Amino acid sequence: MKMCPMCGVAKDVSAFYPTSSYCKPCHKQRSREYRKQPHQRTKIRAAKNAWLKDHPEVNRRNVAAFRARRKASRVPVTVSPDHALVREAVIRLGMTKQRMQQLIDHGQLVAVRKGRHWLIDRSDLERFVTQRIRENRDHHTT
Ligand SMILES: [Zn+2]
Repeated sequence: MKMCPMCGVAKDVSAFYPTSSYCKPCHKQRSREYRKQPHQRTKIRAAKNAWLKDHPEVNRRNVAAFRARRKASRVPVTVSPDHALVREAVIRLGMTKQRMQQLIDHGQLVAVRKGRHWLIDRSDLERFVTQRIRENRDHHTT
């Protein structure tokens, strides 16, 4: 008989793994908890991927389910007429997405998030566009 320090029950030696001081159910429980730690994630992911490679049927099913979920979550955005998508602003101003992001970060343009999209108040955008045009004109005449 051997005493398990986790559940505190004395069990036959056959209920223990040879190298563990915990009984088999407790040992498994502890392993499960150990694997939940963040630094174990890459190892777990690698093991799961290896398993999926051996089970292509399951893999295909999982991928199909994932794509269905993603498709369901991607409902087209409805933009009210007084707002513009950042994508549209980028085209109007002829600048890169990164430059636009900078302007938003620096508070020169106000953008609000709606789902996956960023929206700009249309009056703000118009003001910004006219201001930019004026700045460019002044720059060229001086
Ligand atoms: Zn135990």
